[in-house]
Amino acid sequence: MFLVCTRRCGGTLFRALFAEVEVDAVGAYQDHRVAQPGYVCLNCGSPALDLGEVPAALEADARQEEAETAVMAEVLCPVCETRVQLDANMECPNCGSPLEVA
Ligand SMILES: [Zn+2]
Ligand SMILES: [Zn+2]
Repeated sequence: MFLVCTRRCGGTLFRALFAEVEVDAVGAYQDHRVAQPGYVCLNCGSPALDLGEVPAALEADARQEEAETAVMAEVLCPVCETRVQLDANMECPNCGSPLEVA
């Protein structure tokens, strides 16, 4: 088991969402067990991911992100020569000139 925050905030403490805690007669913690997987980062509150459980799924995600980044076209703004990644926004973020895909 290896939990990481899905926002990668660097938090190292997590809370199990579905844990059953065993207590003694005065309510003092004795033991616990996790009823089903489900963790949140205590630092930022984001869901946590068990890398020990899903390395394959995570790798697939990372590969897909890489592929999406790779197909993003880059153009040079004809006015100010800023390198701009083309997406929904077809204006130069630097000078506001309209851009054309070559
Ligand atoms: Zn976090
Ligand atoms: Zn420009």
